Amino acid sequence: MSKEQLECSFCGRSKSETNLLIAGLDAHICDRCIEQAHGIVLEDHGSSDSGISSNELELKKPQAIKNFLDQYIIGQDFTKKVMSVAVYNHYKRLLQKPTEDDVEIQKSNIMMVGQTGTGKTLIAKTIAKMLNVPLAIVDATVLTEAGYVGEDVESILTRLLQAADYNLEKAQTGIVFIDEIDKIARKSDNPSITRDVSGEGVQQGLLKLLEGTTVNVPPKGGRKHPDQKFIEVNTENILFIAGGAFDGIEKVIRKRLNMQAVGFSASISNDGVVQKDNLLQYIIPKDIKDFGMIPEIIGRLPVLTYMNPLDAKTLRAILTEPKNAIIKQYEKLFEMDDIKFSITTGALDYIVEKAIEYKLGARGLRSLCEAILTDAMFDLPGSDEKELNVTKSYAESKLNKSAIQKLKAVG
Ligand code: ADP
Repeated sequence: MSKEQLECSFCGRSKSETNLLIAGLDAHICDRCIEQAHGIVLEDHGSSDSGISSNELELKKPQAIKNFLDQYIIGQDFTKKVMSVAVYNHYKRLLQKPTEDDVEIQKSNIMMVGQTGTGKTLIAKTIAKMLNVPLAIVDATVLTEAGYVGEDVESILTRLLQAADYNLEKAQTGIVFIDEIDKIARKSDNPSITRDVSGEGVQQGLLKLLEGTTVNVPPKGGRKHPDQKFIEVNTENILFIAGGAFDGIEKVIRKRLNMQAVGFSASISNDGVVQKDNLLQYIIPKDIKDFGMIPEIIGRLPVLTYMNPLDAKTLRAILTEPKNAIIKQYEKLFEMDDIKFSITTGALDYIVEKAIEYKLGARGLRSLCEAILTDAMFDLPGSDEKELNVTKSYAESKLNKSAIQKLKAVG
């Protein structure tokens, strides 16, 4: 085609009638058509006020959400159920059309209480993955009141913006997981004696974020870039999930239960029996307050749930059952070198036993597997060996040699 014959493949204008004609593989587009197409794209994106359209956000029913969680998270049935409903309601709220009856669905931010390594972060990650929304994981311990050394609460939203690749609309419907929320509990009963910069002050700072407000967020974060232009982020539709171990809260619960038991012994549980080994299941918002969280924070994290400690049976299942279980990952890694990897039940039980002995929890399963398999992963790919069967005695001998033994002393 000669230059004179070039024309826009969309409107048919010849090159001379356009200001600009851009060539594609075997088509051309003129400046006017680009502008028109851009308008269509904008219109499409703006079709939903919440910045997320119903077809973009695949809203699964609570049972489907739980089924999805079941594939990745072992046990924790109560939390999975509560979270499924909370997440469903939260996103239903986003898709709600304004109606005349003035019923406004409030946010269902969530508070998860449970020992470290029981899957709190994993649940938040899995939900974000399922919904395909950005997730920011932040640690409450680094937050301080504005003006003090540490990070301002707004930095939480900087992280979310980063997780959303600076797509504001996406960030505004994302999920924020605030880990170690218990570390910002009030340190003493009388906060006026000394200023509590990393405790109650931070809780106060978090309030407005949790509730839903517009915040000026420094996109690059922190105080290192004083000249940057702020981005306005509306937190109305951001789902906040807070998690913490709340070490020692069992004492608070026990005290309350004992006190209740004097007056209303039958009200403790349905069958009137308190299961002493997992008192967390009896947690109520008041316990969190007695631990040192301010009532306003508790009110803004209305969905309260707990994680069960991981017993041997659960740890054993975590090794092999989730969709991306650790053992499945090793199988895959070896398979890529055409090596058939297998592990005996005895070896799996041994790993679980060690994880418990060293008090490593689920996080330790991975370190133990690494310690056992590093030699094989180093040697086998370059050799003719096409099979690896890990038995208990193999695991034992590798572990005895490895540095993880040192953990024994620590644990
Ligand atoms: P937490 O946030 O409670 O400290 P994590 O979610 O970070 O704990 O869990 C640490 C690791 O332990 C996860 O990456 C996961 O591999 C494993 N894990 C913990 N609990 C479970 C569970 N219930 N099901 C499956 N894996 C789990």
